[in-house]
Amino acid sequence: MIKLMVIFIFMVSTTAAKACPIDAFITSVQKEGIKVNSAHRSKEHNKKVGGAKNSFHLLACGARDIQKSSIHNVKEFIRLALLAKYRIIEYKNHIHIDTGESKYLKGTYNNGR
Ligand SMILES: [Zn+2]
Repeated sequence: MIKLMVIFIFMVSTTAAKACPIDAFITSVQKEGIKVNSAHRSKEHNKKVGGAKNSFHLLACGARDIQKSSIHNVKEFIRLALLAKYRIIEYKNHIHIDTGESKYLKGTYNNGR
């Protein structure tokens, strides 16, 4: 039992420690204060929040939703994200960034996709 717990704790800590390139990118643009509203979602959670069926949020390192008000310079963030070949979907209150084909889109829904 203890052995199992140790393995479990090890797995949790290594998962948490493994940084996604998308997170490294976000941190490289702004070190502090960024608020990620949605990151990796389970299939069930994605359905609940009205995410797209093939949402990049289903991949561990696929997508992040960032609260716009937490970004110091939204325009610059978008410019750098596109330069780094991410796809951006700009919503009213948040920026969706994912690892899909790089382009800029304007979102019509206000929930994370
Ligand atoms: Zn999203």
